[in-house]
Amino acid sequence: MKEFWSSRIRDMVPYTPGEQPKDRTFIKLNTNENPYPPAPRALEAAKQAVGEGLRLYPDPEAGQLRAALAAYHGVKAEQIFVGNGSDEVLAFCFQGLFEPARAICFPDISYSFYPVYAGLFGIPYREIPLREDFTIPVEEFLGNNGGVILPNPNAPTGIALPLAEVERLAAGNPTAAVVVDEAYVDFGTESALSLLDRYPNLLVVRTMSKSRSLAGMRVGYAVGSPNLIAALNCVKNSFNSYTLDRIALAAAQGSVEDEAYFQENRRRIMDTREKTAAALEKLGFRVCPSQANFLFVSHPERGGKELLDTLRAQGILVRWWGKPRIEDYLRITIGTEEEMEQLIQVLRQTLGRDK
Ligand code: PMP
Repeated sequence: MKEFWSSRIRDMVPYTPGEQPKDRTFIKLNTNENPYPPAPRALEAAKQAVGEGLRLYPDPEAGQLRAALAAYHGVKAEQIFVGNGSDEVLAFCFQGLFEPARAICFPDISYSFYPVYAGLFGIPYREIPLREDFTIPVEEFLGNNGGVILPNPNAPTGIALPLAEVERLAAGNPTAAVVVDEAYVDFGTESALSLLDRYPNLLVVRTMSKSRSLAGMRVGYAVGSPNLIAALNCVKNSFNSYTLDRIALAAAQGSVEDEAYFQENRRRIMDTREKTAAALEKLGFRVCPSQANFLFVSHPERGGKELLDTLRAQGILVRWWGKPRIEDYLRITIGTEEEMEQLIQVLRQTLGRDK
């Protein structure tokens, strides 16, 4: 087996995303999708893009979308890079900003794609354990690293790193790129975008999959100094000189232009998150303080796998990793109010709190 495979990937373990079931209907709280539809303007723009124009290649520069994002964030268009989901943008970061000679670091208990990319692109890395309370020990990330990458808020804990701490990371790694993966930032975390002027080594990566309900369109982007963005363009152009397809470009632009819908969408998720966290705590769960569209929870009376299986049998999908330190934890995506009420109802029965 593995004949003809590159020796580089023979021992690799590819990333396994959360289950996307096709055989039956579940309440799907396992991959942090948004339960609400994309903005009406995004849907309208996507529909408009479907037509005769699809015979033409999309704009390789994604000029209009980059201009719209630049205006939205108050930066220049040359400070914006767009890609097929932030996963692709992150892959380009590993290729364009990190190197085989110097180990990068990221937290141990973090986005599980980072070690996969590091393996794929031959980047050595050091994983730094979270503190007992699952916060990030920033002091251990400072020094002569080959780069730093971390989600803020962290995934799957949902815990946010205060802006001053992100600044310490950027200032404390002056010779390396510091990539802040802000996939969930819109659900209550202060963004590192405000630091960009002062830290040319800082790159902020965003996605439209979560707060903009566009996971199916695969749109992600990075904001940073023109120098870092040029590195990502260098990788992209050697790989696939086109960025997003015409429909994704249109939908993403429509979403950026629909600020009122965006604000309502994220506000609704945050409200439901707070209600759900309170209901789970009442049932005896330990709930990490989340600034994301998910909750990371454990229960003293039940193991993580047991809860995962029980919920699945009742038609509710959540995420469980079974890794050391977090084997008793589940990550539960925030769905609609009704979905979360059903979740609480099932858990109440499971824990015998309905008597
Ligand atoms: N970063 C983090 C921390 C994530 O959890 C995810 C979603 N799995 C992503 C990036 C990638 O999101 P997407 O590719 O949909 O933009």
